[in-house]
Amino acid sequence: MKKTVYSFLDRIGCGYAWRGIFERTSLPVLAYHRVAPWDPGSVLAPAMVVQPEDFARQMEYLARNYLALDGEGFAKALAQKKIPPRSALVTFDDAYEDNYRYAFPILKKFSVPAVVFVPTAFIETGKSFFWDEVDALISGCQIPKVRFDFNGQTWTFDLSSPSAKLEVILKICPLVKTFNENDGELFLNRLSSFVGVARISKAGGLLSWEQMRAMRAQGVAFGGHTHRHLNLARLSPAEIQQELRISTRILDEQLAQKTVLFAYPFGAETDIPAAAPAWLSAAGYQAAFSLSSGLMRPGDRPFLLRRIGIGGGDTEDIFRLKLSGILSFLAKLKNS
Ligand SMILES: [Zn+2]
Repeated sequence: MKKTVYSFLDRIGCGYAWRGIFERTSLPVLAYHRVAPWDPGSVLAPAMVVQPEDFARQMEYLARNYLALDGEGFAKALAQKKIPPRSALVTFDDAYEDNYRYAFPILKKFSVPAVVFVPTAFIETGKSFFWDEVDALISGCQIPKVRFDFNGQTWTFDLSSPSAKLEVILKICPLVKTFNENDGELFLNRLSSFVGVARISKAGGLLSWEQMRAMRAQGVAFGGHTHRHLNLARLSPAEIQQELRISTRILDEQLAQKTVLFAYPFGAETDIPAAAPAWLSAAGYQAAFSLSSGLMRPGDRPFLLRRIGIGGGDTEDIFRLKLSGILSFLAKLKNS
């Protein structure tokens, strides 16, 4: 839909009315990844990274119009099956360092608590996410067209403009998330040689335990996001249970807490095995979030909770409409 349509819908109070009529008892759970000024060397940033000034406006709106719950308050509301009216929850996936540098001061300013989901194998190890590596390789490539072979398949990548590069990244990443760890590494090495850009380590790009402890002391809770951020749908039951066991133990020990909230890596319906809720429950979790779009409603299954993804391109009117739930409804209508 065109941006002007969103602006029109917002201006005539569509979101406000929608929420008042259809979503009075629903709770928007916002899903962020990164908050930082856009890196000019990344074509992915404008899609994925919310700029600090936009985030500040969003949190100001949220603080004025919603009761922002903290992790504990949310878990309690869920256990009692009683969502406080007009409440919301702010979440971040992947524990990027910019959550501390840029988001945390803004959260404190507007007294908005949050929950950050941490893939523990990446903390203080210098390990980087494959999508950031793909972004660095494709964004840094100077060749306008690249032929690429991997596992018997051949692709031709148009890398002649930032938007073409973004399209390639959005095509590659869903593929890489289906690979096992070894194939993922092989793929990145091969891509690096094809595009003529060296693989870089983004060491230091994620939160340290010390930063997490400082955030935890001031309203930010931390939840599980597995250990290695692999696609659970591709792992064996034993591997999934091990991922949960290791990551939960590390979080509990490092942050002196009992970890009860979880977010699925990648988070699409196809990334969540049917037995995952049972394993999470057995590992001591109380709730788990997907990235399926929609407001959380009373009676929703606690291990398949929906969220609303907020990206770098979301203008103020889109943010307000997303929060009201009307945009997920319209998207579902369009896809049905
Ligand atoms: Zn993630």
